[in-house]
Amino acid sequence: MSDLPHRDLHAVALETIDAAAELLGLEPWLAATLRRPERAVTVEIPYLAADGTVRSVRGYRVQHSTARGPAKGGIRFHPDVTIEEVTGLATLMSIKTALLDLPLGGGKGGVTVDPRGMTDAEVEAITRGYARAIAGVIGPDVDVPAPDVNTGTRHMDWIADEYGHLVGSPTPAVVTGKSLAAGGSLGRDTATAAGCRTVTLRAAKQLGLAADARVAIQGFGNAGAHLARMLAADGLRVVAVSDSRGGVHRPDGLDLAAVAEAKRVHGSVTAFPDADVVTNEELLAVDCEILVPAALEGAIAEREATKVRARLVAEAANGPCTPEADLVLAERDVVVLPDVLASAGGVTVSCFEWQQNRDGSTWSEARVAAELDRRMQGAFDALWDYAAAQRLPLRLAAVALGVQRVAEATRQRHAAPTAAPLAS
Ligand code: GLU
Repeated sequence: MSDLPHRDLHAVALETIDAAAELLGLEPWLAATLRRPERAVTVEIPYLAADGTVRSVRGYRVQHSTARGPAKGGIRFHPDVTIEEVTGLATLMSIKTALLDLPLGGGKGGVTVDPRGMTDAEVEAITRGYARAIAGVIGPDVDVPAPDVNTGTRHMDWIADEYGHLVGSPTPAVVTGKSLAAGGSLGRDTATAAGCRTVTLRAAKQLGLAADARVAIQGFGNAGAHLARMLAADGLRVVAVSDSRGGVHRPDGLDLAAVAEAKRVHGSVTAFPDADVVTNEELLAVDCEILVPAALEGAIAEREATKVRARLVAEAANGPCTPEADLVLAERDVVVLPDVLASAGGVTVSCFEWQQNRDGSTWSEARVAAELDRRMQGAFDALWDYAAAQRLPLRLAAVALGVQRVAEATRQRHAAPTAAPLAS
């Protein structure tokens, strides 16, 4: 899944903005403004490699919009990261935070690096170097990074530490997704999965799917593995899961604890013995009612979409269905729960973490879960009703709702003066 057309994500984000702008009848200056990020920073990160040589990698931080609040979004470490991809993802974050009505904007960061095979010291040096390089453009009131592909609590703790030293005082609210000891929130690690679970169950009910409907999940990382466990606990049958090396399929349902153990010990779910081994492409075509792409973007393109047998696709990853796939799925009557909603649990609990850091409070796990559930349900219901009323596919409806909010805030911010300036 690493040779996917990442550069296309920026084009997709632009098409998305254009479609929403047309639907909403946005003023041309506003549509043009939302097509471009407010700020995009490229940095060079030299670091000491394990062999004693000094090497250097490229990093990016893009703030698409701060009209509704500080930019918010993750940082990914991946060999295919480009400024275009990061810009596209930052744009989607603005829409995501607006759709959930969080007091935040949209941003994204990335480092073009393959962390696999690197020592912990190398990863730490790169992360701290990246934090120093972007320290001047982030901050609790400006831009608040978080984990994304191949980054997690360790990376966020290093960034918070580095930033605190640079500004001269501990500043946990500068990043979210930290460890609990460093000011993280309870429930942040399972938030993306929990949010996806809420909206998937709600959509399944709307579509009249059986209580023990079959689920296939592509991606057994943070989102996919937790989601598999949660949906199985809800009574659904998880019949297939996969990671970057391939997947396993068992029509009557997988023993997920054993699958997770196989991955822990052998590095891949494909080591689980009591199931058929499938490729990632085959996983997308297994007989099931619910398909969850929870890996990288572009996983379901036109060709894959023709083979999907599910009735519902829940996008737990960012951008897994290409626009061409969307059209095929719509023709085939497959309902797609778009990424800006289905993957929004993570940033929602990030917002809770940021709020806790700012007022020094600590929410219980139950409070986090209840607030997340409430927000996700509210966003789902509003979207479902709007899409039905406007006769729009869910993705276009979601983007329109999000873009409308970002546009309103942007318009307000840049409104031309209508009266003469006050006399002094
Ligand atoms: N990387 C996650 C996303 O794409 C979380 C972002 C955040 O928590 O700020 O939504």
